[in-house]
Amino acid sequence: MGATKLEIVENQPLATLTTFGVGGSSRYFATVRSRGEALDAVEFARFRGLPLFVLGGGSNVLVSDEGFEGLTVLNRIRGIEDRTEGEFRLVSAGAGEDWQEFADRSVSAGLQGIECLAGIPGTVGASPVQNIGAYGQEVSESVDEVEALEIETGKSAVFGRDECSFGYRKSIFNSACAGKYLITRVTYRLKERGKPSVLYGELQNRLEGSGEATLGQVRDGVLAIRGAKGLLVRPGHDCFRCAGSFFKNPAVAARQVKEMEQQVREAGAVGRWAWPLDSGEMKVSAACLIQSAGFCRGYRRGNAGLSPRHTLVIVAYEGAVAHEVISLAQEVQEKVLEKFGILLRPEVRLLGFPPSCLAPERQSQFPLAR
Ligand SMILES: Cc1cc2nc3c(=O)[nH]c(=O)nc-3n(C[C@H](O)[C@H](O)[C@H](O)COP(=O)(O)OP(=O)(O)OC[C@H]3O[C@@H](n4cnc5c(N)ncnc54)[C@H](O)[C@@H]3O)c2cc1C
Repeated sequence: MGATKLEIVENQPLATLTTFGVGGSSRYFATVRSRGEALDAVEFARFRGLPLFVLGGGSNVLVSDEGFEGLTVLNRIRGIEDRTEGEFRLVSAGAGEDWQEFADRSVSAGLQGIECLAGIPGTVGASPVQNIGAYGQEVSESVDEVEALEIETGKSAVFGRDECSFGYRKSIFNSACAGKYLITRVTYRLKERGKPSVLYGELQNRLEGSGEATLGQVRDGVLAIRGAKGLLVRPGHDCFRCAGSFFKNPAVAARQVKEMEQQVREAGAVGRWAWPLDSGEMKVSAACLIQSAGFCRGYRRGNAGLSPRHTLVIVAYEGAVAHEVISLAQEVQEKVLEKFGILLRPEVRLLGFPPSCLAPERQSQFPLAR
C-alpha cells in the first residue's frame, strides 16, 4: 500500500448505497477521496487478486442478494477547476462530485452543454461510462477528457473524447474496456452564453410560450418532467426505488420495424416509437415493446413492479429483494423476446449475478419465479 491511510472495511452492506436499495454486502469496501487513495485501493485488490468494482452514486446498479466477493471502491474524489478557452469553459471535476450539483452549477454559471442532463442522479465519474443522455442531449457532446487509473496496473491514463468510443448508452468504459478503469476526473467543454438545447418534443411542449428559453428555464423544465415521472432523486421529491430505465432501447433493422408496426399499433402505441440511427438501423422504444408484449404501467409481482408512471422503469417496493427485481426483468425480457424476437439488454449494471442471468441461455440458472 502507498502513502495514504486507506481504510478497508469488511462485509459492507451495499443496499443503502444504491437507489434500488436492495442486495447484499461487499466482501471488502473502501471510500476513496483522492487519486492517491484510489491507487492504494487498486493495489489492495491487485495484491489479493480480488475483482474491483467502482461505485459512484449507485443509481445504475443492481446488487445481487449474495453480494459481491471483491473490493467495492466508493468514489468520493471531489474538486472542481475551470479555465477559459475561447468561447468555451473547460471545467474539470473530480469523479466523486455529485452530478446533479455539477449540472446545476454549470447552468447557474451560464454554461451550455449539459442543461438537459440536470436531475440525473449519480456522480461525475459515471457520466461518461454509459454516456448519460436525456431529453435530446448526451454527455458525449461535452466531454473533453477522461482521466483514469488502469485497475490491472495502477497506471494513469487519459482519454480524449474521440478515444471514448461514445455511442447510445455506450462508451469504451462499458464495452471494450468494461471494468478496466477507475475514472478519477472528467473535463467538460461547456459553451459560455451558448443557446440551450431544446430538441425533445416533451420539453418543447413544456417550454412553449417561454419565447427563447434560457438555460435555467430548460433545466427547470427538465426537472419538472422528471419529477412528474417520479424520476427525481432530490430532497422534497418522491422517487421510486429504481435505477431509471432498466433496459436500453434496442437497435433493430429498419425492415423489422416495418414488420412490427401493426402489432405495436394494435397494442395501443400512439406517436413515434422508432428513430433512425446513423448506422442505418432504427432505435426502438423499449417501453413500447414492453407494453406491446402485454405489460402495463404499475404491473407488479411480489415486491417488484413496473413503475406506475413508466413501463421501462423497474421499481423495488418495500421489502423487495434483488431476486424479485431480476425475476421481473427476466419475465419482461422473455415476453418481448417471444413476441418480437428482440432481446432487451439491461442498461443497469448487474453486480454479483452470473453473467448469463439476463441472456436467453439463462433459464437453467434463474428459473422464472411465478
Ligand atoms: C431515477 C433515475 C433516473 C435516471 N435517469 C437517467 C437518464 O435520464 N439518463 C441516463 O443516462 N441515466 C439515468 N439514470 C441512470 C444513472 O443515474 C446514470 O447512469 C448515472 O450516470 C449513474 O451514476 P452513478 O454514480 O450512480 O453510477 P453507479 O450506479 O454507481 O455505477 C454505474 C456504473 O458506472 C461505473 N462507475 C461509476 N463511477 C465510476 C468511476 N469513477 N470509474 C469507473 N467506473 C465507474 C460503475 O462501476 C457501474 O458500472 C437514472 C437513474 C435513476 C435512479
